[in-house]
Amino acid sequence: MKTVFIETLGCAMNERDTEHMIAELSEKENYVQTDDSDNADLIIINTCSVRERPVHKLFSELGGFNKRKKPGAKIGVTGCTASHLGRDIIKRAPYVDFVLGARNVSKITEVIHKPKSVEIDIDYDESQFAFKEFRGSSYKAYVNISIGCDKACTFCIVPKTRGDEISIPVDLILNECKRASEAGAKEIFLLGQNVNNYGRRFSGDHEKVSFAQLLNRISKIDTVKRIRFTSPHPFHMDDEFMQEFASNPKVCKSMHMPLQSGSSEILKMMKRGYNKEWFLERAQKLRNMVPDVSISTDIIVAFPGESDTHFEETIDVLKQVRFEQVFSFKYSPRPLTEAALMTNEVDPEIASERLAYLQGFQNSITDELADTRLGKVYEVYFEEQRDGGFVSGRSDNNIVIKVLGDASLLGTFAKVKVTKVGRMSQVGEIIV
Ligand code: SF4
Repeated sequence: MKTVFIETLGCAMNERDTEHMIAELSEKENYVQTDDSDNADLIIINTCSVRERPVHKLFSELGGFNKRKKPGAKIGVTGCTASHLGRDIIKRAPYVDFVLGARNVSKITEVIHKPKSVEIDIDYDESQFAFKEFRGSSYKAYVNISIGCDKACTFCIVPKTRGDEISIPVDLILNECKRASEAGAKEIFLLGQNVNNYGRRFSGDHEKVSFAQLLNRISKIDTVKRIRFTSPHPFHMDDEFMQEFASNPKVCKSMHMPLQSGSSEILKMMKRGYNKEWFLERAQKLRNMVPDVSISTDIIVAFPGESDTHFEETIDVLKQVRFEQVFSFKYSPRPLTEAALMTNEVDPEIASERLAYLQGFQNSITDELADTRLGKVYEVYFEEQRDGGFVSGRSDNNIVIKVLGDASLLGTFAKVKVTKVGRMSQVGEIIV
């Protein structure tokens, strides 16, 4: 029995890729996962390239692993940074044994046997590859519904690291949801760069199904109790999708709508494909259809050319939509992207001021919304043990609530009354 240690950086798609690698390595190469990198036979860093910082972090981490690893242990780099840096990683860190791109995960059992191999083809198609089964959680199952992305947002490196968008055949997805939910994962979490663009392109002849229809089919599986997904693209927020979202009781009422900027002019420079008015209209329609929906978003401040007026437009959208959660970042130029060639950069100090202002502004909204939850009752699905004798879970609309309790609560549903509110999570007590 050999051991593999995997450090996963970045998004949920990377977490699912890590699960796939562990599944393949354990089924085909007799590996088991370990948390002990110093004594592992194989060390993998599954990387993220969405901003510059994770890339810097990679090389300092590699150096540390190489120093501490046991004799004969192998080191591999996978994920998005592997895709765009490729062989340069081995040039900068010659002790790295292989480099495997984000679109080549299924080749993990090949590259471990080919010293200094670099597999980073972003046109490689593993959309029909039936990965072996491994899950990081017994209660929630990530399920990929597509690979790659067909958009060209000017700030984003993903299309250059994960390739063009291909939908995974519906039967593969349904089988995976059935298998995972029968094994105990009552919550299915669908993953894709643009989930609500599902079904536009398959490789090979497959049944064409829209995302709304896919949600409906998955909800017909008895053992599936909840369905979540990320990320939908605001451009594809069509009425069919929103109708299924609103009316299907198994589809959780939380929607992540990555806005990026509130200025239509900046959205145009970002090539996002929608403007401020469309986003506001879709968000308002969603709130009308599902009053208790929680909406979260992503915001980039200080995109090249962003003026004070543009920034105020972003704050205006926060004011109007009142998001439950905002993930906000300063613009980080990425290699191979159009925006990296734009010259009108925003002064770094102004960028920091804008980010601080935006986060302060959003925190006050988040706190106000949290206050409205005191005394309310939510149905919570418990999925994680926490410190201090707490167990936490999420409501249908993605509110994190923790209660005093033990592991017997994990994987179960209960009605919980909120007794204490907080910015990131609430405390409650189970009511019977
Ligand atoms: S939709 Fe845009 S931001 Fe999202 S992964 Fe694709 S290119 Fe990147």
